Amino acid sequence: MPPTEVAYQQCISPSCGAQYGVDEARINCEKCGDLLDVTYDWDRAKPPANLRDFEAMWTRRHEPSRFSGVWRFHELLPFAPIDQVVTVGEGQTLLQQADSVAPYVGVKTGGLFLQYEGMNPSGSFKDNGMTAAFTHARSIGAKRAACASTGNTSASLAMYCAVTRHMKAVIFIGSGKISYGKLSQALDYGALTVQIAGDFDDAMVRVREVSQELGIYLVNSVNPFRLEGQKTIMLRVLEALRWEVPDWIVVPGGNLGNSSAFGKAFAELLQLGLIDRAPRLAVINAVGANTLYELYENRGLRWNAGVDDQDTSATYYRELDATQRKASTLASAIEINRPVNLRKCLRALETCDGVVREVTDQEIIDAKAQVGAGGIGCEPASGASVAGARKLVAEGVIQPTDRVVCILTGHQLKDQDATIAYHTTDQERFDKVLGTRGVKRASFANRAVAVPNDLDAIVKAIQLYS
Ligand SMILES: *Cc1c(COP(=O)(O)O)cnc(C)c1O
Ligand SMILES: [Zn+2]
Repeated sequence: MPPTEVAYQQCISPSCGAQYGVDEARINCEKCGDLLDVTYDWDRAKPPANLRDFEAMWTRRHEPSRFSGVWRFHELLPFAPIDQVVTVGEGQTLLQQADSVAPYVGVKTGGLFLQYEGMNPSGSFKDNGMTAAFTHARSIGAKRAACASTGNTSASLAMYCAVTRHMKAVIFIGSGKISYGKLSQALDYGALTVQIAGDFDDAMVRVREVSQELGIYLVNSVNPFRLEGQKTIMLRVLEALRWEVPDWIVVPGGNLGNSSAFGKAFAELLQLGLIDRAPRLAVINAVGANTLYELYENRGLRWNAGVDDQDTSATYYRELDATQRKASTLASAIEINRPVNLRKCLRALETCDGVVREVTDQEIIDAKAQVGAGGIGCEPASGASVAGARKLVAEGVIQPTDRVVCILTGHQLKDQDATIAYHTTDQERFDKVLGTRGVKRASFANRAVAVPNDLDAIVKAIQLYS
């Protein structure tokens, strides 16, 4: 590692701490195998003295790099020069004060905020990370990029490849595990799509092997540069709250990249004196893919100053294998049993005095319907954050007077199958898509009204139902 650099890569294990240059493409530490961080020498990087200084970027929206909701915060992720970033206009997202969803969650009017990451160009928060990974990939001259995906990472990767033409996309998906909305994006953008007979966890193992063997740049969230981009989701939340730190950030947990990135963002802001406290973090698993919940809440696994307690997780994974338990939830974006960022997430939970909860598919799909009825809408996995917030209010962990930000990770149109099945009058369709997931009822269904093609009947129906 050249010691004069502003940024370098560093092993997250404090007992190792090996350093690598940012000119390397690595997904783990050569010495000990642990995950890597992108770390900055802040004395050289010269971050702003005050978060308000970023408001000056609003007048520079004509510059693509400052129009970007990621790169207008470049000073807090300065691993590449600002004139070399790759951007397609990601991060134009909204923090909605969701007063019509607040009663469902159980917080006071004005206290619930929904952060709409579905407004990104490819329809999910993944673009925040992909712009950063692409910037890194281009800086080291990569020609092909690969990912394993439950759908949104591949849609994002395929889009960046199509728009920028910097690289060719190779995506790995599990069989039958991807929603059509997401698959259609990858195909439309022209990505080489490899469907593996297996689930996401299988695809993840294979894509690591293949990228190693063929020298393909890996853009899954084990890539530390991805998480640098995802830090800016928290910066935009703070920006929308006029730089006031909320009480809670609630986020669904799959591969745990987002939660890890959020924790790193707050650790750095604290270190730089740009905030005086971190919000509390709640990571929400689906019951059918609840590794983090099980390890953190039931088996007491903690970051513990970085001492790697591999026994606890290894024992759990052996149990999963022995019982052949596969991840299973209708929230396909978080249908993951072996989260690659587990250790970074444990660190984030410590930084943010975090909690982990699990919610059922019934709770997820009902919460999603509430978001649709009172907000801009989201895909099922995103509904987990709202369902989780509701659960934490019911438990008394979140107070009704708290300011709570739920991250809506993906767009409403990503998984129309689930939405249509929820609102349908067709029991067979409901059973097939939702019943098989243990969903018993559509508590907030808005059913289409069937009428004969007859003016009187139509008028009567409208009078009756409106
Ligand atoms: C990827 C994804 C998640 C999971 O995020 P992680 O960072 O892997 O925990 C949740 N929701 C949506 C919509 C996603 O695309
Ligand atoms: Zn190491």
